[in-house]
Amino acid sequence: KNAHAMDLEFRQQASYLLSLKREVNSDNLDDPKATLLSIAETPTTVEYKRYGVATLDGRAYTSDGKEVKLSTTAHIDECVKNNGLTVYKLTTEESIDKDSVFMMMLPLKDKNGTKAVIFLSFSTEAFEKKFDSSAFEGTEFFFIVDANGKNIMSTHEKAQFHDISNLFASSQYDPKYNGSRLEALKQDMKNLKSGVLLPTESANFYLSYAPIYFNGWYLFSIVPAGNVDANRNTVLTYVIFMCLLLAIIFSVLTSYVVFMERRKKDELDKILYTDSLTGGPSYAKFCLDVKQQLVKGQKAAYIVMDLDNFKLINDYYSYEIGNKTINLIYSIWNDMLEDNEYVGRIAADRFAVYLKCSSEEQLMKRLDNFCELCRSHNDKNLGSYIITPSIGVYLINEKNVNIQQMQNSAVMAKALVKGDHETMVAVYNSNLRKEMSDRKTLEDELEHAIQDRVFSLMFQPQFDTQTKKLCGAEALIRWQKEDGTYVPPSKFIPIAEDRGFIKDLDRLVFEMACDAQKTFADNNNIIDISVNVSQQSLYDPNFIDKYVEIAKEKNADISHIHLEITESTLFENHKMFIKLLRKLRRLGFKIHMDDFGTGYSSIMLLKSMPIDFLKLDKSFVDDYNDPRGRSIIECIITMAKQLGVILIAEGVETENQYLYIKEQGCEITQGFYFSKPITSEEIENLLKD
Ligand code: C2E
Ligand code: CA
Ligand code: CA
Repeated sequence: KNAHAMDLEFRQQASYLLSLKREVNSDNLDDPKATLLSIAETPTTVEYKRYGVATLDGRAYTSDGKEVKLSTTAHIDECVKNNGLTVYKLTTEESIDKDSVFMMMLPLKDKNGTKAVIFLSFSTEAFEKKFDSSAFEGTEFFFIVDANGKNIMSTHEKAQFHDISNLFASSQYDPKYNGSRLEALKQDMKNLKSGVLLPTESANFYLSYAPIYFNGWYLFSIVPAGNVDANRNTVLTYVIFMCLLLAIIFSVLTSYVVFMERRKKDELDKILYTDSLTGGPSYAKFCLDVKQQLVKGQKAAYIVMDLDNFKLINDYYSYEIGNKTINLIYSIWNDMLEDNEYVGRIAADRFAVYLKCSSEEQLMKRLDNFCELCRSHNDKNLGSYIITPSIGVYLINEKNVNIQQMQNSAVMAKALVKGDHETMVAVYNSNLRKEMSDRKTLEDELEHAIQDRVFSLMFQPQFDTQTKKLCGAEALIRWQKEDGTYVPPSKFIPIAEDRGFIKDLDRLVFEMACDAQKTFADNNNIIDISVNVSQQSLYDPNFIDKYVEIAKEKNADISHIHLEITESTLFENHKMFIKLLRKLRRLGFKIHMDDFGTGYSSIMLLKSMPIDFLKLDKSFVDDYNDPRGRSIIECIITMAKQLGVILIAEGVETENQYLYIKEQGCEITQGFYFSKPITSEEIENLLKD
């Protein structure tokens, strides 16, 4: 940068000197004063000290009116010899004002040759000031050498070498080392290249050189290594500071971004890992926790659970009650969890549970306890219906089992107990796959059978205990497959309940029962026919209308049609059913409470339930040998009498059983001792007898 600035400066000065020379009247070159005065000064921005004209013998006259005799003509001689621009520096002793100046000189000629010179002087101080050494806080000094390597000017009084060749002449420099440096430097100068010499042990400075171009000169600048280093240190400190600042800003920004990301992740995790309804863990979180347990390889059980007829709760009550039920189930599970056991909601009323399992027996105890808590839930906010869970269990004996596989297996096991009100827990085993595919086949066949109405009715006669006279018959559905085999109702009724076909089946049976009643009546055979009605049928809001309509259509006499509803169904939602039963009875239907003793009714409930018959479950009759069993039967019979309902003993298979219930005052019996279920023709034959 400085070399370029100097080049410009010198060129401006030289061109100003040239412009002055052009003004010279060369008529009287022997007289410096006359010659100088012939010059008409032109305005300029060049900062010179003075200009002047000197004859070859050293007489000079200057622009500031000084007439001097130069102490030496050496420079004039040189200029004459050069026959062109000559530049040199005058030391303080040599100059007129006794200060260091910088001179430019041009020869003045007339027709006889060079007679005088014109010169222009500048203060080197002013010139040096133009040199920018701010980068190294003024510690830098420079010198200029001409194309031959001769030192033209130097700002450092110590650097008084005359030629570039003795630049490193001082004994302080290592000669062999500097020889090669000097050669390289000279080579660069020849090629007008610039470069830098790095410090050595003996030459502890940086030396940079660059061509000025003006007059073939070179600018050298020297900075003591320490200063460069100090400067470098300042720059380094600054750079380090800036880096640190940037690093801080960067890390603050990064931390912020990381923080925001983490917060976002936490929020997402919360959404992902929390079940919105129960506030407990989601299924995703459950799977994550279970995976961690699985690697330990301990004995445990993977359980899936849902409720039977949960949809009915939503439909009949409200979503709110449905949600409360789900929350209740969650809290029952959650309360029974021990360390390293988990529960997660899969969807709707479906839960997945991971329980430790030291023995299958102990696990079953815990699951029974869960079912018991479900059935006995007592919450004013929920209806008084009974929650019946279905539970599928997969016993984990191996390490690293796949969660999806366990889930599938447990779901498969659960399907076995779905809709079964007696058994609520099923454990997966390898036979299950076959059972499941059999069940699936049966499901498909059942669906077709309902479409094709391939069902028939059998009637199980009921007898007056005292007179042994036929007094009624229970209509029982029969499904004969194409291959002639019968599928027992205990097998297909739960499937129909589970798949939602049961309402269609019930209605079909009711239609056939109405037909039978009409046929019997037409033949003057009056007999009460009782028909089983499932829970799902009762939840149908159009149930009563439909049944009345069917009876009308079939011209059946409602007063001879009885409806059998199980105790557990009635108990599940007694408030609703009390109203429904009253309405049915007003219409003329008689009501049987079926399977009494297997459900959970209280005596209070029984008192308020508008029923006509109580059907004592077969299990009680089976128990009649046991003294405790006997006392229960006797109690029930007494109670039925008190409530004014007629008692029917189901499943009477032996004479002793018959004699016993007769003795106890049970009014009606039904069972294989008297008759197995028979056809409608056989009923009519019995009636005739
Ligand atoms: P349930 O209503 O308790 O019907 C009585 C069942 O006990 C009948 O079995 C009958 O054959 C059987 N049974 C009668 N006396 C004896 C006996 O002395 N010993 C023995 N071991 N069993 C006796 P079934 O026909 O297999 O029906 C089983 C269940 O299927 C019925 O129990 C009822 O819950 C259901 N079911 C049958 N038909 C229908 C129907 O049309 N609709 C509905 N919803 N359920 C039905
Ligand atoms: Ca029945
Ligand atoms: Ca029964």
